[in-house]
Amino acid sequence: MVDVRLESIVKRFPRGGDTPAVDDVNITVNDGEFFTLLGPSGCGKTTTLRMVAGFYFPTSGTISFGDDDVTRRPPNKRDTGMVFQNYALFPHLTVEQNVAYGLKTRKVARGRIAPRVSEALEQVHLSGYSKRRIDQLSGGQQQRVALARALVIRPQTLLLDEPLSNLDAKLREETRTEIRRIQREAGTTSLYVTHDQDEAMAMSDRIAVMEAGRVQQLGTPTEIYHRPANRFVATFIGRSNVLALPVEHAAETEIEVRLPGGATARAAAPQGHGLGVGDTAYVSIRPEYVQLAPPRTPGAASGVVKEVEFTGMTSTVTLEVGDLTLMAKTIDMPGTVFVGDAVGVVLPAERLWVVQP
Ligand code: ADP
Ligand code: MG
Repeated sequence: MVDVRLESIVKRFPRGGDTPAVDDVNITVNDGEFFTLLGPSGCGKTTTLRMVAGFYFPTSGTISFGDDDVTRRPPNKRDTGMVFQNYALFPHLTVEQNVAYGLKTRKVARGRIAPRVSEALEQVHLSGYSKRRIDQLSGGQQQRVALARALVIRPQTLLLDEPLSNLDAKLREETRTEIRRIQREAGTTSLYVTHDQDEAMAMSDRIAVMEAGRVQQLGTPTEIYHRPANRFVATFIGRSNVLALPVEHAAETEIEVRLPGGATARAAAPQGHGLGVGDTAYVSIRPEYVQLAPPRTPGAASGVVKEVEFTGMTSTVTLEVGDLTLMAKTIDMPGTVFVGDAVGVVLPAERLWVVQP
């Protein structure tokens, strides 16, 4: 197995306009790691993955697998397994014929194909299905065949482009757990692409959050969730509140901000935040950490309930605090908070985090 290194990768398409589709991406996927490119549609995920696969060559920059520079090497010389959103299986062939395909094109000796195919089908828990035609399988089973077909060639790296998008919600969750189990057992260095933040958080060792061709933040799921680097990451991952507030005091890794109505709140800030008294700070807080209190609770800001949305285990409450709008997620029983209620709003210091604009 190997690590996969992308250094200063830029991709411009002919007639692609002024902004590159991928703009100075630097990523190292460690040996055996499950690494995800996460971002909205059009941010450059597929283009990046296709450069790693060899379907596109970068305009500039270097891609290497271990010590091997593969930047301008064609796909069939790269030893990568690829899984696509639409499975790209042959519908009229059987499961085993589909899985055997990559071995045949690689000229693996006839006698060694059958055992390799059964091993791959075992990996994805489809041993009993080898003689079925693809069009006799469910979507989830088809995607596992696609995974077996990628794994059967024992690739150094596994590349997956939104492989779960065509499955319904429940199957999507089951299949993501399966993919991760299979990847862990095989130990294959994996680069995964999705626009779904839950999926990325649940599956990944590390994530690169992308927007407009650039990596906005690279880190573990917990780092990205609790310490988003900027507004984009904070709001893209789990819909954080980001409040623009005047700075009252500033220290090295903490600031104090003023809320409408005069209450103050402390927020953790990254080293070198550069904020001073009177500046506007962008402070993030997740809805689940915004606390509701009785009106006129000392130290709390005064708010009014604008909307209550019951979503099962939690309710999402939209609050107005002066000219700010923020969301709170509560697990309290519905029927205790009503539109028009005056409430106290508490923003706990340990949950407030300063982000870049
Ligand atoms: P994502 O997979 O994140 O949705 P893509 O990598 O497919 O994004 O696309 C990134 C950007 O590059 C988009 O603006 C898209 O329109 C553009 N793009 C992708 N492929 C091509 C192409 N073959 N020619 C021109 N522009 C392209
Ligand atoms: Mg894509």
